[in-house]
Amino acid sequence: MVGHPSTTSSWNFELERLHKKDLFRHMPTVSGPAGRTIIVDGVEALNFSSNNYLGLASHPALEEAMIAYTRRFGVGAAASRLIAGSGEAHRELEEFIARWKGTEAALVFGSGYQANVGVISSLGEAVDLILSDELNHASIIDGCRLARAQVQVYPHLDLERLEDLLRVSGYRRKIVVTESVFSMEGDQAPLRELDALCKRWGAILMVDEAHAAGVLGPQGRGLAAELDVWPEIQMGTLSKAVGVSGGYVAGSRSLVQLLVNKARSLIYTTAMPAGIMGAALASLKIISSEEGDRLRSILRANGETFRDLIREYLGYRTRAGHIVPVRIGDSRRTMEVSRRCLDNGVFTHGIRYPTVPEGTARLRFSLTSVHTQEDLHRAVSVLQSALHTDNWAACREVSHVRLD
Ligand SMILES: *Cc1c(COP(=O)(O)O)cnc(C)c1O
Repeated sequence: MVGHPSTTSSWNFELERLHKKDLFRHMPTVSGPAGRTIIVDGVEALNFSSNNYLGLASHPALEEAMIAYTRRFGVGAAASRLIAGSGEAHRELEEFIARWKGTEAALVFGSGYQANVGVISSLGEAVDLILSDELNHASIIDGCRLARAQVQVYPHLDLERLEDLLRVSGYRRKIVVTESVFSMEGDQAPLRELDALCKRWGAILMVDEAHAAGVLGPQGRGLAAELDVWPEIQMGTLSKAVGVSGGYVAGSRSLVQLLVNKARSLIYTTAMPAGIMGAALASLKIISSEEGDRLRSILRANGETFRDLIREYLGYRTRAGHIVPVRIGDSRRTMEVSRRCLDNGVFTHGIRYPTVPEGTARLRFSLTSVHTQEDLHRAVSVLQSALHTDNWAACREVSHVRLD
């Protein structure tokens, strides 16, 4: 069907603008499960663009659990959580998450996005100042936009500036929100120092562990657990290392009660299917077991190899981790280098504004425990030639040099 001509052309105007700025996006179609390799728009490539850090997204135990729970409870939950959609499967998963995280309670949302929006917007009524790191994820930003509280954004990881903002009096309750491992930088928030600052200035700490849960800490509990920090609000997703779908918040029983009463992204949406709950539960059982430790140690070793290879082939230093940004700067060039990598069998998606600040477009390599050492060699060598083909002189902006 073709739309009415005048409607179509009014969208074209906006689309043209995106094209001109090299910010036009499309959704590539992938085939098959997201594993070590992936077929993107019909081209098979090594997959460095997934958040499937432990390779669990197509694990047979998760598939079996999803089928078993679906057989038992049906496909759709048929109602919202507060009406009649909150089943035994939801409770079982929430109890497991709370035990795993070492908190009194946990609450599952339809996605990590919904969890952040729900939590921050509802707390916005109970707190009057929200302090948010400038590189926080869009779901945190949107939660802040919906919150009826004052929001202050502090420069990335800038504790001095944050303390200045905390010091300002006249606010009854303050909350500091940060990611633990930043999704597009791969760097870590200094949670111990942040926790100490919050205690000193009477603020609540909320940590988004989307990219750390499953990957870091004892039993994969996240960066806070690794550093033995206990933020009042811990948020995470079931869609990244966990390999399924959904988001959660772990904290005190009263926090969960407040969210059940206030979080509109929980209340006004249909409950998640039980099959998802079953698969997430099976995944968390693996994550918190010795098998999880084994997968995490492979992932850690892959991160170290990748760092060494980047230094060897490209001559710059980066940190060892499962998220490695290669900053190029210019949007068009980033997408060209990404395309060239794909043509040579390596899928690493270009990341542009507004996902990252303007002028900092990059390739984002996500490593997983299913990548082999040869895959990592291949990736860095393909990246090197893709960057060089691009005219090295023009590529001086490749500046992801971090001395740590
Ligand atoms: C992906 C992500 C989310 C959202 O999680 P989904 O389950 O994908 O909706 C929230 N916070 C951060 C930091 C993320 O990277």
